[in-house]
Amino acid sequence: MIETLPLPDAQRPFAVELSDVNKSYGTYHVLHDVSLRVGQGERVVICGPSGSGKSTLIRCINRLETHQSGRIVVNGVELTDENSRIDHVRRDVGMVFQHFNLFPHLTVLQNCTLAQRWVRKRQQSEAVDIAMAFLKRVRIPEKAHRYPGELSGGQQQRVAIARALCMTPGIMLFDEPTSALDPEMVKEVLDTMVGLAEDGMTMICVTHEMGFARQVASEVVFMDEGRIIEKGAPEALFGSPSHERTKRFLSNLL
Ligand code: ADP
Ligand code: MG
Repeated sequence: MIETLPLPDAQRPFAVELSDVNKSYGTYHVLHDVSLRVGQGERVVICGPSGSGKSTLIRCINRLETHQSGRIVVNGVELTDENSRIDHVRRDVGMVFQHFNLFPHLTVLQNCTLAQRWVRKRQQSEAVDIAMAFLKRVRIPEKAHRYPGELSGGQQQRVAIARALCMTPGIMLFDEPTSALDPEMVKEVLDTMVGLAEDGMTMICVTHEMGFARQVASEVVFMDEGRIIEKGAPEALFGSPSHERTKRFLSNLL
């Protein structure tokens, strides 16, 4: 690998930069002038009530949804209608959903090698080695030849994380990865995410797991009605929120 000298801060592109992003579904205006900057290696936690636009925001970052105005720049590449840009960004952005979205008819290992073969153009043996390495990383290598339906929810979600990591993304997006899990499985998934954070992964996580946020977030963002209402370090936002809506939301949560 070629060693590059670190760039001075001012020249280093943000991992993700949103400027005045607006998004509508038909006539329904969902995101209003959303601006957010996420530096390399930062971990941003997004919270807020149901329907506030958190999933839409996350999905705009890898172009699962299109925005109508404003700018979204991922690792220096602006998202536009150009397919090459979308592919470029998607290759570097891994996503983990609330409902795992594993292919039920493929084994765990096949789930983890499919996109490596097709998108990364890796040889089967290399793809398998990489998949097994990440399945070990999420502590589930013994399930490689099982089907998703044979695994618990927590195990499936760890496979989904491994599958995303197999693409060696620079940025990971998580959309409520633990909210569909039984309580006893939440910790194993959060522990995996904490491990990723400790390894320096750039992460944007929609989650209401405040313990996780306190432990790893460089910044917590509170959204309501399609707007970022306030943001700050976890101690500040949880300890002394400035806005009434944030206070109300947090008091219902704790
Ligand atoms: P959150 O993730 O914070 O619960 P969402 O981003 O899922 O919020 O949704 C924000 C708003 O946009 C909600 O009112 C939701 O009903 C609406 N919405 C989400 N997806 C669609 C869609 N595909 N078409 C129309 N409306 C949508
Ligand atoms: Mg959502």
